[in-house]
Amino acid sequence: MVNCPECVSREITKKKTQLEAEFNAEEQEDGYEFRAPPYREIEDTIDFEGLGLIMKLDSATKHFICKRCGLYATREQVSDIRYKLSRKESTKSDKQYDYLDWWQKSKSDKAKE
Ligand SMILES: [Zn+2]
Repeated sequence: MVNCPECVSREITKKKTQLEAEFNAEEQEDGYEFRAPPYREIEDTIDFEGLGLIMKLDSATKHFICKRCGLYATREQVSDIRYKLSRKESTKSDKQYDYLDWWQKSKSDKAKE
């Protein structure tokens, strides 16, 4: 089973926002800031099937299709997107330039092709 990386990432962002709101609703000690659980950990709590995040395989073209967002990709592309999205998520709180770095790198990779 292949889950749509774009939709999963969206669900993870939603879940993080929800966790942060719950955190802020509680009384916190001074200097204690919200820290979102790692991407993978949130991913484990998501009900892919219930949310309709399972991609459909088009056996003729060997491409996976997401009924929700329309993403159309091979298995390799799906894992590539998933990797980039999870990397983006885990570095976002650190430094924004990590993401920019990836973006620029992926652009120059494309130029080489
Ligand atoms: Zn999708």
